Amino acid sequence: MKENLAINGGDKTITKAFDWPIFDENEVNAVASIVQSGKWGNPDCADEVARFENAFAAYCGSKYAITCVNGSVSLRLALIACGVKPGDEVIVPPYTFITTASSVIECNCVPVFVDIDPETFNISPAAIEAAITERTKVIIPVHFGGLACDMDAIMEIARRYGLRVIEDAAHAHGAEYKGKKLGSIGDVGSFSFQSSKNLTSGEGGIVITDDDELYAMMHSLRNVGRIESGQWYDHYNPGCNYRITQMQAVLLSEQLKRLEGQTQKRNENGLYLNQLLADVEGITPLRRGEEITMHGYHIYIFKYDASKFGGLTKNEFAETLAAEGVPCFKGYPHPLYKQPLFQNKNFMCYAIPETADYSNVYCPVAEQACHTDAVWILQHAMLGETEDMEGFVRAILKIQGVVKS
Ligand SMILES: *Cc1c(COP(=O)(O)O)cnc(C)c1O
Repeated sequence: MKENLAINGGDKTITKAFDWPIFDENEVNAVASIVQSGKWGNPDCADEVARFENAFAAYCGSKYAITCVNGSVSLRLALIACGVKPGDEVIVPPYTFITTASSVIECNCVPVFVDIDPETFNISPAAIEAAITERTKVIIPVHFGGLACDMDAIMEIARRYGLRVIEDAAHAHGAEYKGKKLGSIGDVGSFSFQSSKNLTSGEGGIVITDDDELYAMMHSLRNVGRIESGQWYDHYNPGCNYRITQMQAVLLSEQLKRLEGQTQKRNENGLYLNQLLADVEGITPLRRGEEITMHGYHIYIFKYDASKFGGLTKNEFAETLAAEGVPCFKGYPHPLYKQPLFQNKNFMCYAIPETADYSNVYCPVAEQACHTDAVWILQHAMLGETEDMEGFVRAILKIQGVVKS
């Protein structure tokens, strides 16, 4: 009965609200104490910023961490530190947030889009290798949804061709590949602390690295080109003021204490949901291999087959499921290269070579993920209880029952 669906006025399957962000008086007191101290940031004080950076680096098993204003600037810091020059090519996936590729434009470089793997929706190592030219300098794998890319294959290709690897780990705080924290495997790992992300201070970002020279350059670029051994008025590099405040730093330090427990909870819920959905016709969770020792589940993604849901389109299905009370979303409507920025080459003053042309770029797997396949359940819902995971499946089966009858 169509009227049983919540979207048509029927009862919702799930009535619980899934909160995000999660905090208590610890966060409130930490921020209040900074406010009261009057030491809100540079130049008076940055000790809480340094304390958080040290804690995050240690958590990731990396030597250095440098905070910055967001997870887009963090990519820019990493790219410039990796030594890209105007016209260099940077390989990126087309199924990601805009700044994975637009940060490349901001560095006067050319994003080269290569397709994703149909089973993981992460960048395909074979497609990376096929796209390498003599102008390629960097690969930016994105651990989409918190699922690790095939890092052994990517690092092997990078070594063979002498390329740098910047992991876009904006979805992957605390997630792992073969026991290693994501972001700590490539030359640089980049994270976002924007409000939807698994570790947040409203806005913010960070880069991690083990490399002394990359550290020194990213640190300098973040701090208006100053160097650690230099004077306050000596500026060596073309950086900017990308620093965060002490209020953000203490908020992040408190949130970091919650991250491991939250990551484990999402990971367990994701494994359980995989098991439950294995029995649902027309729903296929993304492949999760043995190498995934911890999944971040910033997004739990499953593939949807409309033919098993009476032809209900993916967008209609996602709206119907959301109305049932499942925090879900239809995802990106098209791959990144379809954005007007690339199609119209609105590169403004940036010195992108004329040869850059996106009008014929076509990545079939990414197209299919956007148009027909991918449905997202959001990270705060993955912090629910096991009965919530059962509820998500009940909601899917309810829709299937209605549309097939
Ligand atoms: C959120 C996000 C970013 C950018 O982070 P901001 O902090 O919002 O600037 C970069 N890459 C990916 C994959 C993201 O999801």
